[in-house]
Amino acid sequence: MSLIKRILVTGGAGFLGSHLCERLVGEGHDVLCLDNFFTSQKSNVEPLLDSHNFELIRHDITQPIFLEVDEIYNFACPAAPGHYQYNPIKTMKTSILGAIHTLGLAKRCNAKVLQASTSEVYGDPEVHPQVESYRGCVNPIGTRACYDEGKRAAETLFCDYHRHNGVNVRLVRIFNTYGPRMHPYDGRVVSNFIRQALADEDITIFGDGSQTRSFCYRDDLIEGIVRMMNGPNDFIGPVNVGNPGEFTIRELAELVIELTGAKSKLIEMPLPADDPTRRRPDISLAKEKLGWEPEVSLRDGLAKTIEWFRSIDLSTYRPPTPNFV
Ligand code: NAD
Ligand code: UDP
Repeated sequence: MSLIKRILVTGGAGFLGSHLCERLVGEGHDVLCLDNFFTSQKSNVEPLLDSHNFELIRHDITQPIFLEVDEIYNFACPAAPGHYQYNPIKTMKTSILGAIHTLGLAKRCNAKVLQASTSEVYGDPEVHPQVESYRGCVNPIGTRACYDEGKRAAETLFCDYHRHNGVNVRLVRIFNTYGPRMHPYDGRVVSNFIRQALADEDITIFGDGSQTRSFCYRDDLIEGIVRMMNGPNDFIGPVNVGNPGEFTIRELAELVIELTGAKSKLIEMPLPADDPTRRRPDISLAKEKLGWEPEVSLRDGLAKTIEWFRSIDLSTYRPPTPNFV
């Protein structure tokens, strides 16, 4: 019989956080989901509200919180460029103050704490594929810096709380992840292309579409995250979790058109500033230490995501709520 733990998921009502909560509730743990609903809605966790082992807390992680927990997954942070650039100062505060409050809580409770870091710590990488030892190429004064540098500072805090205070930490660098329940208006490439294709609208390729990304299906991602939390005690990471299949943005657009049967045309739009030219995880470390690798192909994962997009009522989704510093 496995031990029932009290587990806090910050950002637990979001795309990835809500799937993680579902998984942990299913395993019988007492799950506390903390969220300020900046980029998510209650409907993401509605099916869990009746579970005896699920609790929803509306709280902003830029403020301290006093709870008793055994484990923490720190997922609170807007993830899509349009969301994190909406209020960049708040994004930085969420990453840094959020890390400090989460780590302080972990220290007080002697809890294990996992940080949802990102491939964005590599910036526009000169090393390809990206290995964990690569230190990255981030523009500290650019429009993506609030997210990239916030996440880098959070990694620093996690390592210093570990070294100086003995906090039991885990660092996971998540690469682009997609799947059902992603915010349909988050402005990211997968949601934009599927929405556009289903409406037979033009598909907006930023730049010439030769930039690459590696897309991980959400179930694979959650499996990797949970394995890292429960992995070897002497392995704090950072570890890359992502799908090494690398696609140009144009290839992605063509696949979405094929899978939806859309009549959409591809059109080119200006490339946003500091848009990374390529991204692909080296996952040797995750394979070796966690026995993890993704199983869902882009084709299969997109098919499931498209099916979900067909099933939702887009009018029930709202843009990020006003979010004060
Ligand atoms: P999401 O926007 O759906 O989820 C983030 C959640 O955090 C939302 O529910 C939001 O309301 C909440 N939140 C934001 N600021 C908060 C604050 N100050 N206090 C409390 N809650 C707050 O995004 P996601 O895709 O589920 O991402 C979850 C985590 O994974 C984030 O930390 C993100 O940086 C990381 N990540 C995601 C991806 C990806 O491709 N989805 C890639 C790399 C890293
Ligand atoms: N992109 C695009 N069309 C869109 C949205 C995004 O061509 O409608 C491009 C974007 O410029 C980037 C890639 O797709 O090169 C991935 O963008 P996304 O915002 O999904 O994630 P990130 O840049 O953070 O990896």
